[in-house]
Amino acid sequence: ALIAPALAATPFVASDWAERSLPDHAGPTGYASYRAQGGYALAAALVNGERDAEAVLAAMEGSGLRGLGGAGFPAGRKWRIVREQPAPRFMAVNIDEGEPGTFKDRTYLERDPHRFLEGVLIAAQVVGTEAVYLYLRDEYHGCRALLQAELAKLRADPPCHLPHIELRRGAGAYVCGEESAMIESIEGKRGMPRLRPPYIAERGLFGRPTLEHNFETLYWVRDIVERGPEWFAGFGRHGRHGLRSFSVSGRVRQPGVKLAPAGITLRELIAEYCGGMQDGHELYAYLPGGASGGILPARLADLPLDFDTLQPHGCFIGSAAVIVLGHHDRARDAALNVMRFLAHESCGQCTPCRVGTDKAASLMQAPAWDAELLDDLAQVMADASICGLGQAAPNPIRCVYQYFAHEVGQGQPMGAPPGDLPHPHGRS
Ligand code: SF4
Repeated sequence: ALIAPALAATPFVASDWAERSLPDHAGPTGYASYRAQGGYALAAALVNGERDAEAVLAAMEGSGLRGLGGAGFPAGRKWRIVREQPAPRFMAVNIDEGEPGTFKDRTYLERDPHRFLEGVLIAAQVVGTEAVYLYLRDEYHGCRALLQAELAKLRADPPCHLPHIELRRGAGAYVCGEESAMIESIEGKRGMPRLRPPYIAERGLFGRPTLEHNFETLYWVRDIVERGPEWFAGFGRHGRHGLRSFSVSGRVRQPGVKLAPAGITLRELIAEYCGGMQDGHELYAYLPGGASGGILPARLADLPLDFDTLQPHGCFIGSAAVIVLGHHDRARDAALNVMRFLAHESCGQCTPCRVGTDKAASLMQAPAWDAELLDDLAQVMADASICGLGQAAPNPIRCVYQYFAHEVGQGQPMGAPPGDLPHPHGRS
């Protein structure tokens, strides 16, 4: 019912949206150019009471936009939940982008920072948040300088009343992409995930109701409100709706950020957006969602890539970091890399994750894997870890057994892939 028939029937074509993802851009759109092109008019109209906040919220809900940090929680619903909480309310924005293989947020930030900042202002006004904390990956030195400079221009010549905005630096911990760990870090504590409930929408930053978003989710807000919810929801393939920014890397001719319809398959993504496979490489496997999203074989390259579509196969799309492996690669090597990474990044507060990831990484170095022991470890990590990092850590092990058992000296797959997979980064 959300889809206007004309838009639903229109295939996705290269447009200004797709061009923004090209690597050889001329530089960021600065404050003056952004405003000259009509930027901040929507935010100003909202703040000055010329636009109805409820209508903006309805547009967000109608667009079907979901949290693009990976967990896919409906953005409009989140706005409504936080808006109904008692003031003061805060906003925390995740630009930590620590998921291996993910580089979409940086790509958009470097090109169009004010489109994101206008999304921040719109969300702050609709939800009624008094202060906004931008949590930026410390390795993104250039992005920090850019954001500082553009924020200074915005403050010097504001289009409307601005909320208090602070730019905070992360310190390189993957787990700080998990919303409650990020909040701990912003509060000046060690970044460790909290037990929930209470959810951060009710008790988040400094104990107050908090709207938490990934950078890209806010990046789309202005366009959704201006063009209408049907515009965004009208993209999509294979029964899915919306746009996704795939960070594609690995054995493809043209890696990069590919803005494509939600539900596109890997085979279509490689052929239409990546110029095909590299010479001398045939598609063998792919990681659809960075480190924790699992590994799928080439025979499953025709699955729609979107939230909810990969769970039956033991995987998830997360922040859409697609890593493509060729027939010279081995899935077990990718799984071992992932497990080493998770062992390194475990915050250590719960034993199944702290010890389990380390033990699993050492077991996965053996030519033939110890299926019984790894199965035990996988189950304990999935059942007894506090946050998604530990809960999702078994995914690569289970995928190797499920789809690549020949690589680890096994004829039979281990267990069934989990049906309800957590994302390591919570609800964003
Ligand atoms: Fe920390 Fe791992 Fe426990 Fe998450 S699952 S809280 S990363 S030890």
